[in-house]
Amino acid sequence: MKKEIPLTLDSDIQYLKGIGPKKAKLFHKLNIFTIEDLLYHLPYRYWNLKEIKKIKDCKVDEEVTIKGKIILIGEKTTKTKGDVIELILSDGTDYLRCVWFNRPDLKYKFQRGEELIVSGKIYFYKQKEMVNPYYELLNENRKMYAGTIIPIYPLTEGISNWDIRRGVKQALEKTYPLIEEDLPLEIINKYSFYSKKESLKKIHFPEDLKDAERARKRLAYSELFYFELILALNKKKYEELKASPIFKTEGILTKEFLNNLPFKLTPSQLKVIKEIEEDLRKGKSMTRLLQGDVGSGKTVIAIYTSLIAIENGYQVAMMAPTEILAEQHFFNWCKELLKLKVRSALLTSSVSKREKEKIYLKISQGEIDLVFGTHALLESDVNFKNLGLVIVDEQHRFGVMQRAALLAKGNNPHFLVMTATPIPRTLSYILYGDLDISTIPEKPPGRGKVITKLISVKARGKLIEKIRKGCLLGNQVYWVCPIIEESEKLTLRAATKVYEEIKNTFPDLKVALIHGRIKSDERMRIMEEFKKGNIHILVTTTVIEVGVDIPNASIMVIEHPERFGLAQLHQLRGRIGRGEKDAYCFLVLPNINDEKVLLRLNYFVKSDDGFYLAEKDLELRGPGEFFGTRQHGLPEFRIADLIKDKDLLLMAKRDAFKIIEEDPNLIKFENRIIKENLLKKFSDKVELARVI
Ligand code: ADP
Ligand code: MG
Repeated sequence: MKKEIPLTLDSDIQYLKGIGPKKAKLFHKLNIFTIEDLLYHLPYRYWNLKEIKKIKDCKVDEEVTIKGKIILIGEKTTKTKGDVIELILSDGTDYLRCVWFNRPDLKYKFQRGEELIVSGKIYFYKQKEMVNPYYELLNENRKMYAGTIIPIYPLTEGISNWDIRRGVKQALEKTYPLIEEDLPLEIINKYSFYSKKESLKKIHFPEDLKDAERARKRLAYSELFYFELILALNKKKYEELKASPIFKTEGILTKEFLNNLPFKLTPSQLKVIKEIEEDLRKGKSMTRLLQGDVGSGKTVIAIYTSLIAIENGYQVAMMAPTEILAEQHFFNWCKELLKLKVRSALLTSSVSKREKEKIYLKISQGEIDLVFGTHALLESDVNFKNLGLVIVDEQHRFGVMQRAALLAKGNNPHFLVMTATPIPRTLSYILYGDLDISTIPEKPPGRGKVITKLISVKARGKLIEKIRKGCLLGNQVYWVCPIIEESEKLTLRAATKVYEEIKNTFPDLKVALIHGRIKSDERMRIMEEFKKGNIHILVTTTVIEVGVDIPNASIMVIEHPERFGLAQLHQLRGRIGRGEKDAYCFLVLPNINDEKVLLRLNYFVKSDDGFYLAEKDLELRGPGEFFGTRQHGLPEFRIADLIKDKDLLLMAKRDAFKIIEEDPNLIKFENRIIKENLLKKFSDKVELARVI
C-alpha cells in the first residue's frame, strides 16, 4: 500500500485525494495552490436544503431550492440557442421546467425517475421554470448533502462545486489540528468569536445560516484587523522616525488674522484648529486629514495653519488640483496676507516662464512665505529654503506619489490634507487609516437652503422663464455641461453648444463660457467678472467642480446629471448655497428610464448631506466605482465586504490601534500571536521588521 504523506496547510492541493496534478492546475485558476488557500476559498452563498420549497408555493422572481423527480427529459439543438436541455421536475405539488443552454456536459447526464435538487430564480413562461439553475443529483452525493446546508463556491471550468466541497472536507479532516489561531484571546473573548479553526469549519459546513455568517464575520474581522494593524504600525513608525519642527502656537500673526476676518470661526472650526495646534507643538510629524463638506470653511483653517508655520520661520506650500482653485486661493488671500506682511505667490503652469523663474529664486532664498499652486509646485526647479508645512487641498484629486513628491521638498514638513469629497467612514478608515482625521460637521451659520429639483427636458421652457426671473432679481447662474464640444458618438449637450443656445435664449443677459481649454488669463478675467456680478450666466464644464467660491451665484443648472456620480454632483452643487439667499439646483434629465439612475438622483434631490450621499453612492455603486476611474488605492479584501462589514471595520480599527498604542513593538506575551502572524504573513508587504 502507498504510504500517505502527512499533509500540512502549506501542502500542494494535488496531494488531496481525487485532485492530482492535472486537476490541481484547474484549481490554480481559482488562485488555490495550497490546502490553506482551499480552506480560504469561501462560499458566496448557501443552499438551504433544510428549506426546500414546494413548487406550488414558489412565486415568480423568488430564489428557491426545489427537490423533485425527473419525469421528462428533452435534448435538442436549435439554430438560435444552440444546445438546449430541458427537464420537467415534479415534487408532487406541481411541475417545474428547468432549461440549460449550451451545456453539452449535461447531455446524457439525467435519467427519468432520478431525484434532483435545483436552485435558482423562478420565471414564468407558460409554466414555472428555471433557466440555467444550479443542480445536484441526489444519488451522486446523497451522503454529503441530504438535509444540510450546501455552500456554493466560485468555480471555474472543470471544477465543480462538488470537487471543492470534497477537497475542503478532506483538507479539514487532515489539517484541522494544524490550523493556528491568529487573534489574541482577549479579542476572541471580547466578541465571543469562534476560534479560527471553528470558523473555517463552520463556514464550509454550517449547521444553520446564522452560524455560517458568524463564522464569516469572525474571519473577516481577522482580515480587517491585520490590515488596520499594519496601518497603525506604519503610522507609529512615521511618527517616530520623522520628527518635524516644533512650532510655537501663541503668535501674533494668527491673532491678528482672526481679528481681521469678517466673520467668527464656528466652534467646529475652532476645534479643528486646536487639534492642529496640538500636533504642531508635539515635534512629531503632523499628518492630518481635514474632512468637511463643501463650503464648510476649510480654507481659513489652511491659512491659519500656514500662519503658524510662517511665524515660526518656515515656508508653506499649498497645492490645489485645478488652476482655477489655486488662482482663487491666491487672489482671495494675498491682500489679507500682505496686511500681515506675509509674502505669497502663485505658481501654476500658466505663469510665464520669466515670472516663474523669479518665483523660483524667491522661494529658494526664503523670500516667499506661502506659495499657492498646482502640480507646477512639484517641478524640480522649485526648491524651498525651509519648507515646514505642506497643505494639499482637495487631496482626493492627487495620487499618493504627487503628495510624496511635494513632501520631499522639505525636511519632514508637517502635512495637512483637505478634502470636501466626503468619503464614507468605512473607506476613510481604509484609505486614511494612517492619518489623523479632523472633521467639520456643519456649515457656517447664515447660509440659505439649497433646493434641488429634477426637471425633464420637456419642461425646459418653464425652467428658462424661472432663470430669467432669477437673473433679473440679481441672482447668478452656473450652467453645467458634462463635456466641452459635441462629439458625434455621444448625443450629449456640450458646453459650446449650450453656450450658443443660452446666448440666443437670453439676449438681454450677459452669458459667458468657461472650460479647461480656455487660456488662463481669459479664464481669470471671466471668473473675476462673474465674481463682480457682471455676468449673469456662466456656462461651464466641471472645471468649477471643486473649490470655487462665489457666494452670489445661487442657481445651478446641471445638464445630463445622469452622467455624474453622487459625490461629483454634490461637489458641483456645493458651488451654490454659499450666500444668505436660498439657492436652486435644477437637474435637466433627458428621457431615460434607468431605475438605478433615478434612484441615485432621487437621493441627491432629497439630501444635502455629503456624508449621507457618499454612503449611498458607495452602496449603489460599490467601492471600486465610488472613486470612478481615479486612482484610489483601495485594497481588495478576500473575506470582508466593505459595505456589509462597516461595523466590523470600526471594531478592528479601534482594537488594532489600541494594541499598537499600548505595545508598539508587540513584545507583550499576549500579543505574541499577532507578531508571529505579521512576520509570517505580511512581512513582504510592509517594512515591519524595523519596528517589531
Ligand atoms: P470649503 O470647505 O469648501 O473649502 P471654503 O473654505 O471655500 O469652503 O469656505 C466657503 C465660504 O465660507 C468662504 O466664502 C469663506 O470665507 C466662508 N466662511 C468660512 N468660515 C466661515 C465662518 N466661520 N463664518 C462665515 N463664513 C465662513
Ligand atoms: Mg475648498
